[in-house]
Amino acid sequence: MAPTTKSKSTTKMSATGTETNKTVHSPLLTYFSMISLLTLCPPFVILLWYTMVHADGSVIETWNYLRQHGLQGFMNIWPRPTVVAWKIIACYAAFEAALQLLLPGKRVEGPISPAGNRPIYKANGVAAYVVTIITYLGLWWFGIFNPTVVYDHLGEIYSALIFGSFIFCIFLYIKGHLAPSSTDSGSCGNLIIDFYWGMELYPRIGKNFDIKVFTNCRFGMMSWAVIALTYCIKQYEANGRVSDSMLVNTILMLVYVSKFFWWEDGYWNTMDIAHDRAGFYICWGCLVWVPSIYTSPGMYLVNHPVHLGTQLALYILVAGILCIYINYDCDRQRQEFRRTNGKCLVWGKAPSKIVASYTTSSGETKTSLLLTSGWWGLSRHFHYVPEILSAFFWTVPALFNHFLPYFYVLFLTILLLDRAKRDDDRCRSKYGKFWKLYCEKVPYRVIPGIY
Ligand code: NDP
Repeated sequence: MAPTTKSKSTTKMSATGTETNKTVHSPLLTYFSMISLLTLCPPFVILLWYTMVHADGSVIETWNYLRQHGLQGFMNIWPRPTVVAWKIIACYAAFEAALQLLLPGKRVEGPISPAGNRPIYKANGVAAYVVTIITYLGLWWFGIFNPTVVYDHLGEIYSALIFGSFIFCIFLYIKGHLAPSSTDSGSCGNLIIDFYWGMELYPRIGKNFDIKVFTNCRFGMMSWAVIALTYCIKQYEANGRVSDSMLVNTILMLVYVSKFFWWEDGYWNTMDIAHDRAGFYICWGCLVWVPSIYTSPGMYLVNHPVHLGTQLALYILVAGILCIYINYDCDRQRQEFRRTNGKCLVWGKAPSKIVASYTTSSGETKTSLLLTSGWWGLSRHFHYVPEILSAFFWTVPALFNHFLPYFYVLFLTILLLDRAKRDDDRCRSKYGKFWKLYCEKVPYRVIPGIY
């Protein structure tokens, strides 16, 4: 894997965030949401784990406990990071880093960055995914390591991840100041914004180790599959069987993560990688929020083995797989359209498109193609609809006794509606009149005919 190619100027940031976020919210709202997320997300992870594992999944039970015992009660339930937890995290992180560096993969060029660089990646995600899953199941099968240890130390692991990832984000902040990897970096002069949104778009260690590929894909997304399997195995070891609800949940999550790694080089063209810098928002999110919150419907099912019956289980499974497929097909369609420079078929026909020009931060004029047919002609962010529905379908096996398993669906809906607005605003400032034309041709932002 080669390093990014460099251009001359360093990207400037605005007072309200990275380039990508500068026009979206007022400065006051931006500061308020940043400080809120920085302070509230860590305790929320612990409260969610505590409620799922020790309070029967009941928010009311946790609320009553906190009302009775106050802050001291909360401190008592916050698990301290233990040596076992640190060991599990260190082994997993080292294993994933080694796979990222050592497994072969084809050379892939990322999209041109705002500063005019083109990052180069090694596409070995599928191999890393297959090796990880086989190794994890193999360790269990041959009695070398029992995944129930992970479940039994889950609170300590999340606690260690919260602190460890915070320190990692401080490292990213210092690196961004002292030794940025490319010209896609820079400070807005405000410590909190720099820490929260990040300093660098493509930070690397040495020439080959891409930090965002590690945090987002190989640690975050991979942990989703590993932890989903852990929940399934824990239920099996505790009850001697796996409920159909847990099976549907685990299969859908594994299909989703498999799809992610199948399409990983497409992910390197999305906002997370191509626009959002490496800071607390994206890196802490992938290192802590993904393994804890994204996997939480499965965490609930461990102690609530709902029996769905074969027919209902199959309906949910098929509906979930269909949504994951549609989400994949939306991403594939856009990627294929851009890769072939519009010379492909979209739903069996030549695509309709807008040729949009824009100026990079170094002053160069470039062109991009905007697809206006297929999924991308239904609404400007139609792919978020099947994304949210997939999450609903792997949660609904929990049925409706408690609200908490649905927290991820709710969170994802808010995240993606906000993201659609953020992306629209960024594209409007990037493409100007061309984006206006796209909005006239495709008037709805997410849900055709409604929003
Ligand atoms: P996209 O992959 O949709 O990327 C948006 C970018 O695509 C825009 O910034 C623009 O970039 C380009 N673009 C926009 N419209 C068009 C068009 N009509 N034709 C061609 N290119 C266009 O964004 P996301 O990163 O949000 O989504 C990627 C995937 O990740 C989706 O499947 C989404 O559901 C999923 N996702 C999942 C999340 C989760 O937490 N589970 C969170 C976020 C996303 P450019 O500057 O190149 O023109």
